[in-house]
Order: sequence, then C-alpha cells, then structure tokens
Amino acid sequence: MVDGPIRYNTVMADATTYPHLFEPLDLGFTTLRNRVFMGSMHTGLEDKTGDIPRLAAFFEERSKGGVALSITGGYAPNREGWLSPFGSRMATKSLASKHRVITDAVHQHGGKIALQILHAGRYGYNPFNVSASATKAPINPFKARALSGKQVDRTIDDYAKSAVLAREAGYDGIEIMGSEGYFINQFLSAATNHRTDQWGGSAANRMRLPIEIVLRAREAVGPDFIIVYRLSMLDLVPGGQRWDETVELAQAIEAAGATIINTGIGWHEARVPTIVTSVPRAAFTWVTGKLKPHVGIPLVASNRINMPDVAEAVLARGDADLISMARPLLADADWAVKAEEGRADEINTCIACNQACLDNIFERKHVSCLVNPRAGHETLLNYLPTDAPKKIAVVGAGPAGLAASTVLAQRGHTVELIDADPVIGGQFNLARRIPGKEEFDETIRYFGRQLELTGVTQRLGTLVSADELVAAGHDEVVLATGVVPRVPQISGIDHPKVVGYADVITGAVTLGERVAVIGAGGIGFDVSEFLTHEGVSPTLDLEAWQKEWGVTDPELADGGLAKGEHAPSPRKVFLVQRKTTKVGAGLGKTSGWVHRAALQHKKVEMIAGASYTRIDDAGLHLEVDGVARVLEVDHVVVCAGQEPRRELHDALVAAGVKTHLVGGADVAAELDAKRAIAQASELAAAL
Ligand code: FAD
Ligand code: NAP
Ligand code: SF4
Repeated sequence: MVDGPIRYNTVMADATTYPHLFEPLDLGFTTLRNRVFMGSMHTGLEDKTGDIPRLAAFFEERSKGGVALSITGGYAPNREGWLSPFGSRMATKSLASKHRVITDAVHQHGGKIALQILHAGRYGYNPFNVSASATKAPINPFKARALSGKQVDRTIDDYAKSAVLAREAGYDGIEIMGSEGYFINQFLSAATNHRTDQWGGSAANRMRLPIEIVLRAREAVGPDFIIVYRLSMLDLVPGGQRWDETVELAQAIEAAGATIINTGIGWHEARVPTIVTSVPRAAFTWVTGKLKPHVGIPLVASNRINMPDVAEAVLARGDADLISMARPLLADADWAVKAEEGRADEINTCIACNQACLDNIFERKHVSCLVNPRAGHETLLNYLPTDAPKKIAVVGAGPAGLAASTVLAQRGHTVELIDADPVIGGQFNLARRIPGKEEFDETIRYFGRQLELTGVTQRLGTLVSADELVAAGHDEVVLATGVVPRVPQISGIDHPKVVGYADVITGAVTLGERVAVIGAGGIGFDVSEFLTHEGVSPTLDLEAWQKEWGVTDPELADGGLAKGEHAPSPRKVFLVQRKTTKVGAGLGKTSGWVHRAALQHKKVEMIAGASYTRIDDAGLHLEVDGVARVLEVDHVVVCAGQEPRRELHDALVAAGVKTHLVGGADVAAELDAKRAIAQASELAAAL
C-alpha cells in the first residue's frame, strides 16, 4: 500500500508473540494483569471538577482497552505546587470524593489507576512558585522563592496527605513525580539547590526530600497501596545527577517503601529531544536496564515506545518489568487488547508529532490526538451506526479522505474512495520520506487496514472528473482533494534551477551542492532536513542519534550529557522567508526548537526578512535590510505554501450533488493533518 521502502513494519502477532508483555505482574498485595502502564499525561481535564466525567470516560476506555495500570495527570499536593494558577490539586476530602467516578470506571474493566502527585516547584507558571533556592527556570518568567526548612517539612506532609486522599478516592496507588526537572529534581541537583541546611549541600542532604516523601507517604497509606516513584535516570542538563547518586537514590527510594520505580528522562529545560518523532524508538530504555541490577522492585521503561514488538523487546532483554506509554494510548485506547488478540496491525500508532497532545496543553487547550480526534473527547465525538445508510464517494485518499471514508463505512454507509495516486496517503507519502518522520508510515498502514476492515471500496490510480461522479449517482460526495503548491510571483520562477518540493522529496530530481529553499514553513524545514542528510536516518540508528545530541552513559558525564558531534551536511542549504520573525517561529510549540537545532547542526543558513528579486543562472537574488545579495545556488526549491485543490466542487454543486469539502480542499492556509483528520472525522460522524 505504501510507495517506497517501509521503515517500521507491523506484523500480525498475538499474545504468544509478546509473552513478556502479557505476563501478569505480582506486586505482593495486588497483581497487574499485564505490563502495559499508561504514563501520566496532563489532559487539561484535571483542573475543573466539572470535567471529571470526561476524565472518567477517558480512563474507562483505556482500562477497557487492556491497560494494567494508568497514572493520572499531575495533581499538586498544595497551592504552592500548582503547575498553573488554580490548577489540579489533591488536597481536600471534598475533591477526593469527586474522583470516585474515575476510579470506579477504571475498576469496572479490571484495570488499576494511580494518582500522580506533582509539585511543579520553579516550573509553576505563577509568581508565587517555590523551590529549594531562589532560582528561575530558563523556561519560566517567574522566579521561585526558597522554602524555609519548616515549609519543606510541611510540604512533605502535604504529599502524604494527598496520598491518603487518593486512597480514599479509590485509587490503587500514587505516583510521586520525581523527574523532568520539577520540585524534587530542584532539590536533588546542586545547580538548583544552594541550601546549607539539612535539605542541601551534600548529595545525602539533597536526596533527603524524596526519601522523606516516600517514607511518610508509605507510613500514611499502609503497606497495600502502590507507590510509584518517577526517578530521573538521565537529567540531560548541565549539573545533572552523577550515576552513583542516581543508584543511591533508587536504592533509598526502594528502602523507603516504593513499590515500583518509573523512568524519567530529561528535565523540561533540557536541550536534548526526548519524545519527539525524530527520537529513535525505545531510545532510553538502556538506562533503565543499567539501573536494573541495583534495585529489587519492578522498573518501568519509558519514552518513544509505541508498538508491541518494541515493548516486548525491551522486556525480553531485561531492561525493565513494565512499559510506560502515554501518547500511544491517546492514539489508540485499545492498544493492549489489539496486541493481545493478534491485531497489532490494527493499532493506530502514535507518530510522536506532539501536535494535538502536548502542543494543545501548551496552548491551554484540552488534549487530543492527531491520528485519533476522539482522544480526550470520548463523550463528545462518537461514531454511532447510521439509521439511514447512504452511498457516498470520497475523493482523495490523504489523511482527510482516509479518516472520512473509514468513519463513514464504520457507521454503515457504502463508501467508494477514489485517488489519482496508485497508493493511499496523499501528502503523508511525502512526509514519511523525511529523515525523522519515519513514523508516518504507520498512519498509512493503519488506515490501509481500516479500509479493509470497514469494507471501503478503493479506486486508486484514478483521476476522477465531476461528470463521472455525477453519473455514478452517489447520494453525497466528500471532496478531500487536498492542495496544490503555491507558485510565487518571482521573476525567473520558470528557470530550470527552480524545482517543487514534491519532486525533491520523491527523488524525481537530484539537487546540486548549493540549494536555496524559498519558504520556511513546516515543509521548508522538512525539505531542508531531507537535503542535509545522507545515508541512514539517525532516527533509525540510535548510536548516530546519541552522538548528534550528546546523549551518553551517565557514568561518563553527569546527567548523561556530552557535547554533540554533528555529521556534516552533503550540501550547503539556505532557508529563506519574507517575514522578519525568527525562522521557524510558527513550528510546533514543543517540537519547533528541535527542528531549528537540527538544521543549525547542519549549518543551514536561515535568512529572515528577505524580499525576492529574481532567479537566474547566478542563483537566487534577494534583498535583506535594503542590502542586495545573491545566493549562488544550483537549485531553488519552492516551499511557499499551498492553495486548495477543488476543481470538482462547483460542477458537482451545479449538478445538484450534495458535496462536502474537508482538509486542504476546504482551507489550505495553516492546514495540517491534525485539522484534516479531525474535520473529516467530525463530518463523517454527522452524515
Ligand atoms: P492531501 O494529503 O493532499 O490528499 C489529497 C489527495 O487527493 C491526494 O492523494 C490527491 O492525489 C487526491 N486527489 C486530488 N484531486 C483528485 C481527483 N480529481 N481525483 C482523484 N484524486 C484526487 N502535517 C502535519 O500535521 N504534520 C506534519 O508533520 C506534516 N509534515 C508534512 C511534511 C511534508 C513533506 C508534507 C508535504 C506535508 C506535511 N504535512 C504535515 C501536511 C499534511 O500532510 C497535510 O496537511 C495533509 O496531508 C492534508 O490532507 P488532505 O487529505 O487534506 O490532502
Ligand atoms: P506554510 O507553513 O504556510 O509555509 C509557507 C512558507 O512560504 C512561509 O514560510 C511563507 O513565509 C512562505 N510564503 C508564502 N507565500 C509566499 C509567496 N507568495 N512567495 C514566497 N514565499 C511565500 O506552508 P507549508 O510549509 O507548505 O506547510 C503546509 C502545512 O503543512 C503547514 O500548514 C504545516 O502545518 C504542515 N506541516 C507541518 C509540519 C510539522 O512539522 N508540524 C511539517 C510540514 C508541514 P513568508 O511569507 O514569510 O515568506
Ligand atoms: Fe501521538 Fe501526535 Fe497523537 Fe500526540 S498528537 S498522541 S504525539 S500521534
């Protein structure tokens, strides 16, 4: 179904193929039904008690889908620990009683659930935040106030109180958030803890806080309650923990009464990517494996584990006892049950784009998922069987057309999907060829399988006309015909040096050693990535990726952070835009910095505030700040945005055919697959 080599290949396999993944885990006082652990995610539904029914539906679907132990988003133990003003907190009996609906919903389907207690420390987005010392995080405008010794003691009691309240709310346990640079890390690191009392100074003093928290929480909740401690195994920041300190802390946490240790990787302010799509799968499980011989309680591996074969391999080589996945369970609530029943090829795979989950949270919206718009919207978006089946044509098998046709067919409509290309996927067939975007293969595989399962008739390799569609007598037509690249009005735009991005990415043209890219949107960045790599993508070569980003054995460098070594680019690339803003400012909130840094590693020259004069044999002529400049290049690649492709629309409407536009065919400006899939799914749910 996919055009060209597939990097990730999901094969049919069942529970017998994943013996480690589906082996129950006996914790002594309770048993987890398998090794699937849903890591904590802030969904945006934690802050208002009015959203609790939506949260209950969210966790219920994941428990029904086979997750053994889910962890909630973070709840602060007190006001000072708030992530944002009036954010989620577990501090009163009345709040706890409202959580019953969540825990009951999870237990009904055999799953277990733990409440995460998260004190934000200096990451608290408010002027009243507190920390070990008066410091300011580089990612927060608000400087923290140092807690007094008495206040530290009271904060530990607040953790223990939250744990008791969680138990009263019906939770099976708690997770103490001790990683990602939050409050506990701020005490552990000498870079953020400048105290001279019993909570600072020596390593033993700096680790006193987390040990006391676990001790007092255990004392408060009794022996038969799960305490997960999320431990930062690689800080990836200057001044990070030494490996011997990490081991010592893990052993002390075990001795203090923790049931399970979960892996944390990187502080939020770290400049090493830890979860974006270009991070290799299971890139950090080796560090969990490194800790394994030093502790006796189960360990959880985390970060970029998204498919059952990857999870099984981590468990089989003994790196960990449980597999934490957060975003993969947003993408598919039935992940575990599909893997167990031999339907791994039906899994809607998380492509680690962050576009609808983390980016939404940073924009203060509720979480969703690019490939599954129902995530976080379980009570709002449902694909119910239709009581009036229709005959519907969907034109275009890009993300919008694939989502529309599969949802329509699942609901009982008769659907014909038509595309001019011989393969499905639309522009995802270009995206998947970009180094670092290999995961996009999985979305095409998922939809290909859904087309088969829902019985959509496919007519590929067919450029359909309006006349044909009218003659076929469809009740309705969905136009998901996507976009056409914009051709900017620049003198010399028809010069032989000028090429379109699609021809570059498919390899239809081969470029010279000096290239200018016009347009620094998502596609301009992707094309620059494509042009500056050769050979195997670092995403598929863990060692090369670690070298590039300076990730190393924490015994060799504190916090596992070394200096990056960057493979040179095979060509010189200029990335140009007219806007005067920082190049790449419009990229994803949580992933844009990675794209910018990756191109800086390749010495791509980014030029903002350009006005294009002409293109000729000499190259691309432009003006920046009134100064004329010629980029002497062999080729100019145009990535100047797109226009809707909708030549079929007016003729269909004129012929009286009920016609709907979705995705790029509707609005091309600021189009991405998140909007394309959500809009198409919502339309298909309503027809
Ligand atoms: P398209 O994907 O363009 O699909 C339209 C389909 O309609 C095509 O297959 C076309 O052949 C077919 N068609 C058109 N007319 C006819 C006709 N008359 N008859 C038959 N078939 C017809 N988005 C993101 O969200 N995140 C990313 O990281 C990302 N990366 C990208 C990287 C690259 C290199 C590119 C090119 C795009 C990327 N995108 C990304 C954008 C994303 O792919 C698009 O937003 C999305 O594909 C739009 O979906 P669509 O279904 O509306 O249109
Ligand atoms: P885009 O993001 O709209 O960028 C188009 C670029 O072209 C802009 O930098 C714009 O900058 C420039 N431009 C626009 N009109 C121009 C003109 N007439 N002449 C010269 N330059 C012009 O579009 P895109 O890069 O084609 O991407 C399409 C969509 O795919 C995007 O909306 C994006 O969300 C999605 N996508 C996302 C990702 C991702 O990683 N999330 C990756 C790829 C694509 P100036 O006007 O400043 O020159
Ligand atoms: Fe994964 Fe992207 Fe969905 Fe987030 S939005 S869960 S990263 S596929």
